[in-house]
Amino acid sequence: MLSNLAARDVETLIHPYTNLATHRETGPLVLERGEGVFVFDTDGRPYIEGMAGLWCTALGYSNGELVEAARAQMARLPFTHLFSGRSHDPGIELAETLKELMPVPTSKIFFTSSGSEANDTQVKLAWYFNNALGRPEKKKIIARQRGYHGVTVASASMTGLAGNHADWDLPLPGFLHTACPHHYRYAEAGETEEAFSQRLADELEAMILREGPETVAAFIAEPVMGAGGAITPPAGYFAAIQAVLARYDVRFIADEVICGFGRCGTWFGGQALGMRPDTISFAKALTSGYVPLGGVSVDEPLYEAMLDQSRKLGSFGHGTTYSGHPVACAVALKTIEIFRREGIVAGVAAKAPHFQARLAKLAEHPIVGEARGIGLIGGLEIVADKASRRQYDPKAGVAARCVAFAQGEGLIVRFLAGDRVAVCPPLVIAPDEIDALFDRLTRALDRTRDWIAAQGLE
Ligand code: PMP
Repeated sequence: MLSNLAARDVETLIHPYTNLATHRETGPLVLERGEGVFVFDTDGRPYIEGMAGLWCTALGYSNGELVEAARAQMARLPFTHLFSGRSHDPGIELAETLKELMPVPTSKIFFTSSGSEANDTQVKLAWYFNNALGRPEKKKIIARQRGYHGVTVASASMTGLAGNHADWDLPLPGFLHTACPHHYRYAEAGETEEAFSQRLADELEAMILREGPETVAAFIAEPVMGAGGAITPPAGYFAAIQAVLARYDVRFIADEVICGFGRCGTWFGGQALGMRPDTISFAKALTSGYVPLGGVSVDEPLYEAMLDQSRKLGSFGHGTTYSGHPVACAVALKTIEIFRREGIVAGVAAKAPHFQARLAKLAEHPIVGEARGIGLIGGLEIVADKASRRQYDPKAGVAARCVAFAQGEGLIVRFLAGDRVAVCPPLVIAPDEIDALFDRLTRALDRTRDWIAAQGLE
């Protein structure tokens, strides 16, 4: 029997990324409040939020300073936009702060309200830039299988997951996907990480040559693949890929929507992984998820092109009502102030060895084929057979079952396609809370193993 609130949910809400058929039976998990790394449901049950919401609540759930920053801005000037040259001080100050932090040559910042919008903006800017440079045929975008870049039409076209394409008439023409850099799953027998990286770079080069380098505008990659499986790249991967991109003048977009702002123990994930992109998309942890905000960095040559077009057409024709919402900018400024004052990024680097050691230990569990990660992000791959790396029938929903058992243990984690489980807690998690998280996850894996045996799954 669903509770009153749960029954009303089922009757009224379409949930993103939810099995809407089983949801009618199981109903929602309704959360009511949060404190530190914990969230509480309507019965007052606490859960460790082992996913930081959706990879975003970096500073945890009860940060009064963020609340006060939002309240003060709402009281003073709840809304003004950035169209037609209008501006506001939190927007200006945040752009200055981000320009300072960006590890790529940055002339200006363009704000959006989400990661999908940031990546859609990147596609449009790559096209726009090549039009400005007088090479209108250079427009194709290369992304990666299992990459995740959002759900709007262009960002979903870059996302490399079947569920975002089948039945949606996507990807759009001109969006291509190169191989996923998951060594455990896709390397050949005996292939080293370096050799695997070089093979993927060679495959990317072959794709660019097949398409014609004069038609390829940009390549997009997350530092650590998030929704595609919490996949860390193999050694030498970005160095090998970047050599190819440089050879064919292909713009490199880093999707730092998950890894930006501390996740890997560096301000941006690319800094930990040898990435040298031309531009960065960011969102999520910038406001600790308290209010929506995203954006992209704009380098000087691109800005020059925007200036030229403005002179010709009278304006730069892109932006949304909430691009650079003042409340979001105020919360982001406070988030970065707290990051700096409290040494959040260094704190992640300090806690990472403990987190990664507990994660790596899970690879000893009988149903875990691989446990991998960096900083405070990690993923598990559930397998039916460790030696052959064979997986269970996807229809059995083993990872989903594990996530449900974890919820029963008071832990929120997320299952991803391909029987993967992701862990990505708030960056402020304490060492004893890391232990509690992995103790609960271990119990969930034990229960999953017992369930598999009871079902007779092979
Ligand atoms: N890029 C990455 C790497 C993401 O993880 C996500 C969201 N999970 C997005 C883009 C899309 O962001 P949003 O959901 O805010 O549109």
